[in-house]
Amino acid sequence: MPPINLAIVGVGKIARDQHLPSIERNADFTLVAAASRNGTVDGIPNFTTMKAMFEAVPTIDAVSLCMPPQFRYDAAYEAILAGKHVFLEKPPGATLSEVESLASLANEKGVSLFASWHSRYAPGVEAAKSFLGSNTIQSVHIVWKEDVRHWHPNQDWIWQAGGLGVFDPGINALSILTHIMPNPVFIRSATLEFPENRQAPIAADLKMTSAIGTPVHAEFDWRQTGKQTWDIIAETSAGQMILIDGGSKLTIGGKAVSLPEEAEYPELYRRFADLVKNGKSDVDIAPLRHVADAFMMGERAFVEPFHD
Ligand code: NAP
Repeated sequence: MPPINLAIVGVGKIARDQHLPSIERNADFTLVAAASRNGTVDGIPNFTTMKAMFEAVPTIDAVSLCMPPQFRYDAAYEAILAGKHVFLEKPPGATLSEVESLASLANEKGVSLFASWHSRYAPGVEAAKSFLGSNTIQSVHIVWKEDVRHWHPNQDWIWQAGGLGVFDPGINALSILTHIMPNPVFIRSATLEFPENRQAPIAADLKMTSAIGTPVHAEFDWRQTGKQTWDIIAETSAGQMILIDGGSKLTIGGKAVSLPEEAEYPELYRRFADLVKNGKSDVDIAPLRHVADAFMMGERAFVEPFHD
């Protein structure tokens, strides 16, 4: 099969940090164009709208949509209607309904839709899943604490309604949790802390249980300075398992497990190529559903205003 002619839409931080280098190294793709209101990619034709890009470069087979989630549905809809395969950055949209609607549309139009969850491709995730699947889990504790000023400077969209606030990183933890737990989990109660001057939470505390009653506690906080923490700790019948630094390291019973090299975005592109080649889609909305449940179930607390 010839390489898939790919275009990037929304040339910002994640497009530059991860998408462009991963596409460059993947022979299944040729990057043929980009569409972004301000950003550009060297060496290929650039457009300020997707419409102009599709008209000028009709050979585009697929697009990677890297803009913030609030603006992704319209772009995905337009791309699918134009017959393009679509890779959605995480989270796949601003609402569950729009993502479900896109999945139906992609199916109807016979194109592949990929709702990507990069953290699921972290080196320790599959080993953690296999360990948890073969032992009794007593409890799970997620600690996802980072410094928003460091990781999300000047990103106004992240603080707006639909921008998810602390769930923007927190959904990565939920994407791992929903992949590694052998039973479904449900939110029983939650507290969301909103800065008085913002529309999205700066911290969230989620109390969940699995379908068989295993307690799962998640703490997300964007006010962490100093050491940053992205850990999932499981107490099990075979000892303590810790998935450390967003899944990049794993210990079981205090011993480090040997893992492959980090390759989250290269793996996402490998998966996308497989989906396109096999005429399939992969649209798991479980992590986004938990975020929606947290907003639906959560008590609100208002905390001091946040300024960049
Ligand atoms: P970003 O740099 O703030 O935004 C990406 C680009 O989207 C912007 O440069 C902008 O390009 C375009 N954009 C912004 N507002 C838009 C609007 N109203 N309509 C259309 N396009 C708009 O954000 P990012 O950090 O790359 O994050 C984008 C997505 O990737 C988010 O869903 C995020 O969760 C996910 N992600 C980010 C990271 C990370 O480390 N940053 C990691 C993993 C996943 P133009 O102005 O040129 O149109």
